[in-house]
Amino acid sequence: MGRYTGPKCRLCRREGMKLFLKGARCESEKCAIARRDYPPGQVSFRRGKVSSFGEGLREKQKVKRFYGVFEEQFRRYFAEASRSKGNTGETLMTLFERRLDNVLLKLGWAASRAEARQLITHGHINVDERRVTVPSYLVSVGHEVKCRPAAESQKRVRARLDETKGRQCPAWLTADLEHLSGKINALPTREDVSIPVQEQLIVELLSK
Ligand code: SF4
Repeated sequence: MGRYTGPKCRLCRREGMKLFLKGARCESEKCAIARRDYPPGQVSFRRGKVSSFGEGLREKQKVKRFYGVFEEQFRRYFAEASRSKGNTGETLMTLFERRLDNVLLKLGWAASRAEARQLITHGHINVDERRVTVPSYLVSVGHEVKCRPAAESQKRVRARLDETKGRQCPAWLTADLEHLSGKINALPTREDVSIPVQEQLIVELLSK
């Protein structure tokens, strides 16, 4: 298999980290970051000293790419995090974790957030017995996420589960493989956020 140089992998190489944008490939040995199939030292395309403003922008960009959100959506999450009690940066990150597309990824029902978004928008997912077609839907404690009973929905999710076997489900979720459902036991905490990001830099950037 030749070296993959598609745009998504290039984004990871630009950030110097895995952003998990290519589904199953990201967890395989074919991942460009895992293989380090780029010239030694070329972890990032950036050169020279980066200002704190630049660092904040970079961290924001990283989070947007990781969760697949646009600037306007990002600003809405930030506004909500700012209004809430507690640490704004941590709240911001846990809001992203509570997105329904992220939950499907954690349950192993999709290989990437993009695929999870497609499952949702195509109507394969219920939350508390009601169909939800909005990937940004925020889950809460007690919610039950379930694959709809339609044969096509079940087939898609089971096929993906076969491939994602072994993926660790976080403690805030309980997966029921037999009934293709997932329960939200608790809200995710900052420790549940897997992307290495300095969210405080984002808070400083957007609070100016
Ligand atoms: Fe490509 Fe690896 Fe990034 Fe996935 S994690 S998009 S395979 S470089």
